[in-house]
Amino acid sequence: MRQVPCFQHVNSVYTRDYVTKRKGDTLFREFLKRLSPARYDEYYEAVGARNRVNMAVFVVMCMIVAVTNLISQIVIMRTQGFMGNVLLIALYAVLAVVVFVVYRRQQHVSTLGVYLIQAPVMLVGILMGTVLDPNQPAVTFLLLIVTLPLFILDKPWRVIAYETGAVALFILLCFAVKDYEIVKSDLIHIVGFYISTVVITLFLLADRFDAIEGYALLQGESEHDELTGLKNRRALNAERDLFLRMPVCVAMADIDLFKNYNDNFGHTVGDKVIAYFATTLVDEFGHDHCYRYGGDEVLVVVPDCEPDMFEAGLKRCQQVLDSYTINGQPWPLSFSCGFAHGQARNSAELTRMSELADELLYEAKHAGRHTIIGSEFASSAPNSSPLS
Ligand code: GH3
Ligand code: MG
Repeated sequence: MRQVPCFQHVNSVYTRDYVTKRKGDTLFREFLKRLSPARYDEYYEAVGARNRVNMAVFVVMCMIVAVTNLISQIVIMRTQGFMGNVLLIALYAVLAVVVFVVYRRQQHVSTLGVYLIQAPVMLVGILMGTVLDPNQPAVTFLLLIVTLPLFILDKPWRVIAYETGAVALFILLCFAVKDYEIVKSDLIHIVGFYISTVVITLFLLADRFDAIEGYALLQGESEHDELTGLKNRRALNAERDLFLRMPVCVAMADIDLFKNYNDNFGHTVGDKVIAYFATTLVDEFGHDHCYRYGGDEVLVVVPDCEPDMFEAGLKRCQQVLDSYTINGQPWPLSFSCGFAHGQARNSAELTRMSELADELLYEAKHAGRHTIIGSEFASSAPNSSPLS
């Protein structure tokens, strides 16, 4: 049998809630928790996906600003800073090509990539405020130092280090090429802008991490069953494509005479029975492959798996459940199961496979329960069938 990923309890996304208020937390400590670097690590994929969008928007926005600037310079025939602008437009054009390539090839962007895209723009801004135009106070750089970091989603300390590095380089070059009077005015402005930038960065990062976490939380809740932690039918529908055009085993497993547990011991014990049943299947087949289908019914879908091995796995589950106890007393828990094996070429066929598994489950119940019945699924669709 294919090695299925081990059970990783998806509830981790529910429990790691950095926004949770604890007794004694001050407002400041709460704020610091929201900026925890661990949040970045936890939602690394989601952060990367947002950085990908940020990067594209950033390049488009820069292009619009630079072209507008250039047009206005041509219209009012102002030559000052003209070369800097032409340089910026050339740079954005190159970056746009890079971003386009990255955007097409990758789902998410490494954080380093976002810095690499931004760094040349920041550098040109620094040069425009110093070496390229040493007789004027820097304006472009002040704008850039506030706006550029807004397009980066990263650990707060790294974004601040980036801002600090840019400001330090700017001040160094100011002292190297500008007159003392202009440097004085630049310094006063840059200190104010730097402090504002750091504060804005921290507030925005906290809010954006909240949004990412909130989204992950809602998605986790909407695709998982609270009692068992298993994925639900909504998750199955979202993941159907993962099981198409490859050999799969689809099983429908249902606890035998489950109502008796509810009637004899109450619903709390009934709940525990369902949860134990689910955990047993997950231990055998992996969390990724088990879905709570109904009350006491679990659907198992395992790709690239030999039917014999699959059936052996189901039998192992039956053995584990045979030694179930309630209140310390042995109380074997039995389930019946129907399973279909074969290939589904489209979503409709996968549905038919699970329907076949359901019919076989029905047969297993009629055959006296505690029974497993499997059958091959014959695909009828031509290769070109559209997905339904
Ligand atoms: P069979 O062997 O034919 O499957 O008999 P059964 O008694 O198990 O019948 P069935 O599968 O139809 O029973 C399902 C019952 O599960 C009906 C419902 O009252 C109960 N149930 C559904 N969801 C839950 C739940 O979340 N917790 C509890 N405790 N009971 C549930
Ligand atoms: Mg049942």
